[in-house]
Amino acid sequence: FKVPAAKNEPVKSYAPGSSERIELKKALADARSKVIEIPQYIGGEEVFSRNKQKVTPPHDHQHLLGYFHEGSASDVTKAINVALDARQKWTSLHWEQRAAIFLKAADLIAGPYRAELNAATMLGQSKNAYQAEIDSACEIIDFLRLNVNFMRDIYEEQPISSDGVWNRMEYRPLEGFVFAITPFNFTAIAGNLPAAPALMGNVVLWKPAFTQVYAANVIMKVFKEAGLPDGVINMILVDGPIAGDVVFKHADFAGIHFTGSTKVFQTIWKTIGENITSYKSFPRIVGETGGKDFVLAHKSADPKALATGLIRGAFEYQGQKCSAASRAYIPSNLWEEVKSLMLADLEEIKMGPVEDFSNFVNAVIDEKSFDKIASYIEGAKDSADTEIIAGGTYNKEKGYFIQPTIIQAFKPDYITLCEEIFGPVLTVYIYEEDNFEQIIPVIDSTSPYALTGAIFANDRYAIQYATDHLVNSAGNFYINDKPTGAVVGQQPFGGARSSGTNDKAGSVLNLLRWVSPRAIKETL
Ligand code: GLU
Repeated sequence: FKVPAAKNEPVKSYAPGSSERIELKKALADARSKVIEIPQYIGGEEVFSRNKQKVTPPHDHQHLLGYFHEGSASDVTKAINVALDARQKWTSLHWEQRAAIFLKAADLIAGPYRAELNAATMLGQSKNAYQAEIDSACEIIDFLRLNVNFMRDIYEEQPISSDGVWNRMEYRPLEGFVFAITPFNFTAIAGNLPAAPALMGNVVLWKPAFTQVYAANVIMKVFKEAGLPDGVINMILVDGPIAGDVVFKHADFAGIHFTGSTKVFQTIWKTIGENITSYKSFPRIVGETGGKDFVLAHKSADPKALATGLIRGAFEYQGQKCSAASRAYIPSNLWEEVKSLMLADLEEIKMGPVEDFSNFVNAVIDEKSFDKIASYIEGAKDSADTEIIAGGTYNKEKGYFIQPTIIQAFKPDYITLCEEIFGPVLTVYIYEEDNFEQIIPVIDSTSPYALTGAIFANDRYAIQYATDHLVNSAGNFYINDKPTGAVVGQQPFGGARSSGTNDKAGSVLNLLRWVSPRAIKETL
């Protein structure tokens, strides 16, 4: 007998005139009318500092939403101490009590906080209403609710016993504290990375990206209101290397839950290696990093489905998803039709601030990101190996806006077919339609990542061939769909190679990393 899994949170439509749209518009206006102070949360304390940093919407960078109070190395030490103090009581709490807190947090986000958290994500991270809804409402709720079910499944998993022997397994929390480092691009990931280890009984230091603090602050308010005891999750707003210097030298450092760049993760891994003799336990290292996600089309593919998949996969949330479709391999027989379908779609797409719900494309996260993306576009303009098919323009006067850009590359190892850009840039490579089998090793070898990928085809042999031969190229593989938008509990998410440790966020596999099991044999 198995209790059925929780259902995924339904996506609200925000259709004109709907009550959710009215509420969200009000929350946006409220947020815009205030200038708030965002503290660190250490133990039960809100910690303010003199080092205040501006928080502004990426699509309207002269508008002040508030300030966050940047902390220092001593705040990190303090946070570790309060976390370790909280640990004894937290680990002694029955798992059902912990579950109740996170289920309550999910309910708060589903109900009273939905508009506030979506508005914060829209303004702070420049996401349109739909992209915010699937992230800071549905996905975070799913993580919180479904992880409770996965946790229960873990605790119920017990070894068999025999005559005279009773065997059992205890899934204890790690001995020490967990460090969660979260990115700007998903509020759901920002919530899940500290919440999952805490649900399993661990205490956590959480360092959100400085570009995501506006919504992170709402998440902390929700955790507190849900009854999370002080000190279990501590939000520190400290520069990465400064925080790392304290955390990675601490004897009680027990694990890292990371989403961010491959380079930073590699540096962290090295630092942990260098300090390995200082720790009481071998730390758990769990990370989701970059991607250079491919879409491969076979000559039998449906051009319309392919064009839609490419536009959505590449340009939703300005391509700032680790899973974004950023390179496409299209057979010569389909190219002209797919190109005109994509150009027609792009004609319809509007770019602008999130407050106008008809804008599909908003701003990229900050100036650094804007400049980096623009330099790839400029490189393509200057190169003889490419042609700009769409977009190619950008402007940062009011916000960091970059037109959805399609580059056609004539060489399969052109830089934008290989490197992660993390912006609204799709590079297409057209292969001779009968060379389907030859293009597969090219896809596999031209990028170091293996996060997501997709095959579009109607021919079953082609689908099977791609599935078999791209087996190590993507941790999430899609057949006739865009490579983004994994749903918690349906497509556990994560990749291998330079894309991370593939510990599948929002699944039993991930939660198992946050326990240190004890096997008990009792002779009866
Ligand atoms: N889970 C997201 C998706 O499937 C991507 C997460 C990320 O960008 O890190 O689109």
